[in-house]
This record gives sequence, structure tokens and C-alpha cells, in this order.
Amino acid sequence: MSQTGSRGGSQAVRTRPAGSERALSESYDTALLDLDGVVYAGGKAIAHAVESLETARSGGMHLAYVTNNALRTPDAVAQHLTELGIPTGPSDVITSAQAVARLVSEQVPPGARVLVVGGEGLRVALRERGLEPVESAEDGPAAVVQGYGGPELAWGRFAEACYAIARGVPWFASNTDLTIPSGRGIAPGNGAAVEVVRIATGAEPQVAGKPLPPMHRETILRTGAERALVVGDRLDTDIEGAFNGGVDSLLVLTGVTDGARLLAARPEHRPTYVDADLRGMLGGQPEVVEVGGGFFCGGWTASVRGDALVLEGEGAGMDGLRALCGVAWAVAGDGVCGLDGGKALARLGL
Ligand SMILES: [Mg+2]
Repeated sequence: MSQTGSRGGSQAVRTRPAGSERALSESYDTALLDLDGVVYAGGKAIAHAVESLETARSGGMHLAYVTNNALRTPDAVAQHLTELGIPTGPSDVITSAQAVARLVSEQVPPGARVLVVGGEGLRVALRERGLEPVESAEDGPAAVVQGYGGPELAWGRFAEACYAIARGVPWFASNTDLTIPSGRGIAPGNGAAVEVVRIATGAEPQVAGKPLPPMHRETILRTGAERALVVGDRLDTDIEGAFNGGVDSLLVLTGVTDGARLLAARPEHRPTYVDADLRGMLGGQPEVVEVGGGFFCGGWTASVRGDALVLEGEGAGMDGLRALCGVAWAVAGDGVCGLDGGKALARLGL
């Protein structure tokens, strides 16, 4: 269970991963799962994801999938997951398109026209809120909303956004992830497209996606979660989003975050728990205990020697990483640990 325990913006600084005697899938009623780097990568299921999610679900945990990608509709995402062997309905998928559509609907008259720079996911989400997607600045939009449009998005769409914004129409963005992973490498994400419009207009959009509160609020409204556990692979979206929403989080190492980044995490990027993959949802989590000048977890003791983090003992690799997090985060306090953890991480194969 969370050691900080509190909710909202007044969390104590987390100085070590939390322990849990009970399985996380039993301690929390709802998992808010990121997709890329957590459930799948490059369109294929990540190792252990399908079986772990099935076990958690059959044990009574509600599973919801939370994505900053505004291009695909919840139907399309649910179908993809189901094809991977993870039975999912559209109501179990929450997108940044839905979060930004709600944000827009709160600031424009009912039924208002909204200029869309993006894809089908955004149009469907706006219609769901009773708004009318339009394509041109000449259509009298009450808002401009920008979401990831995929490789087919034409440059002229940015011009339409700029014309409307120049007339004082409020501008919204589903998310500002600068990049998006693709099967062939790293591609420009919606954040890069938002920069194009920002540079041209000098305006600032209102943003909905992770790690910002509108996205977290959307997931809670749609899932009815009372004890939510955010499960993600990115510190600056998933984990920071959980921090901002005042809920606990599990970082899995199947995506973009490696051990070195985790040790150097600033307070809002420190997850409640860390594990190798989604099997971490199914068990408890060992305590990290401060002993003498070091931190102990599962046979490992981590401490500081000179300007390096050192690890002594033996045991499971994840326990060694948890012990290292304990010492790195304790040393850093509300800052960032600058000590060298390279040799210690190499010993763990991380
Ligand atoms: Mg991810």
C-alpha cells in the first residue's frame, strides 16, 4: 500500500518503493493501464501481458485501458486488444480524445461547431458530447481541437487551425506527446504538430492528455474506480499523471523507462511500485527497509560509496532495483539523484 497515502497535491515526497502484502490486483479495484510499452509494442502483445491481465480480471479486478493516442476510436482499440487475446469492450478504453472533448464541451455552447485537426477518434468523441466536428475555419467553429492525425494528416489542416486561432477561437489539444512509436522507429506525435501551430500563432492550447488532470478525471468518471492503480511505462506521462491524480502507480520496465532513468526520477516521477512486467500486478510487493546507512530488499543492500550507488548481496533483480530506488530517492529528497548507479544496475542486468 502507498506509503505517502495522501491524495491530491499535498503528497509527501516518496523516498522508496512501497511494499504490499496483498496482491496488487486485490488491493486495487481498477487498473488504469497504458497500452504502448505495457500491453503491446509494435502491435504485438508484450510477454506475460495476456495471461497476467486474464488472471487479474478473473480475480475481480476491473481493467481499463488509457491512451493519449486520439487517432483511434475506443472501438478500434478494443478490437485490437481482443484480437491480441485480451477481451475488451469499447467502454473499457479511455482516450485523450474523450478527455479533450469533455474539456471543450464545458467551454462552448451545446451543439457548437468544433474545428478538428486530427482523426476519427476525435470526431467520434466530439459527437459523443453533442458537438459538431467541422473542417474549415470558415465554418464558424467555437473551438479548435487538435489530436494525432496519423501520417495522412495534410499540412493544410494546420493552416485552418491557425486562421481560426488568429480570430480568437480557443484552442485545445488532446495531448502533447512529442513522439509516437511506430513499427519503423520514432515518428512525430501530436505534441510536434501542436508545436507547428504554436510557432505560427504564438497561442497556447489547453491540453487534456496524460499527465494532466482532465485525462485522469475522464478515466475515473468512466470507470467509477474507487481505488485505482495506474500501470504504465513512462515516468512523465503515466506515473506523473497518477501523481497529479493522487493515485498509486506501478511502473513496468517493458517500455521506455530503464533502471537509470528510474533511479534519477524526480518526486512526481517516482512510482509507488516497480516491477519487470505485468506479472507484478498479480503478487504482493516486498518492503524496502532502511538499515544502517543502506536500504535492504529481498537479499540486497544498496548504499552510497563516494559518488556511486553500490549493491551488496544477492537475490531477484527487481528486489535489487527496489533497494537502489530506496537509496537513490532518499539521497535525492525532493530533487534528482546524481549518483552513478551504472555498475550496480549492470549487476542486475538492467
Ligand atoms: Mg506507454
